Amino acid sequence: MSKAQTITTPAVSARLLATAAGFTAMMLLLAYLVAFDQGALSQTGMYLHELMHDGRHLLGVPCH
Ligand SMILES: [Zn+2]
Repeated sequence: MSKAQTITTPAVSARLLATAAGFTAMMLLLAYLVAFDQGALSQTGMYLHELMHDGRHLLGVPCH
């Protein structure tokens, strides 16, 4: 008596999952840099804050 073997394929491939995870991480980092970075993590002083300043105001992030 042999069991029928079924071959299943995942609905989402590992490559697509890795790509989506990487893209999400990059977008979260970008959102952090635009909205929250005050130089503590990036160690750039206020350079990144000033660089992203218009974007902060455009998104309505509290600034000053
Ligand atoms: Zn501002």
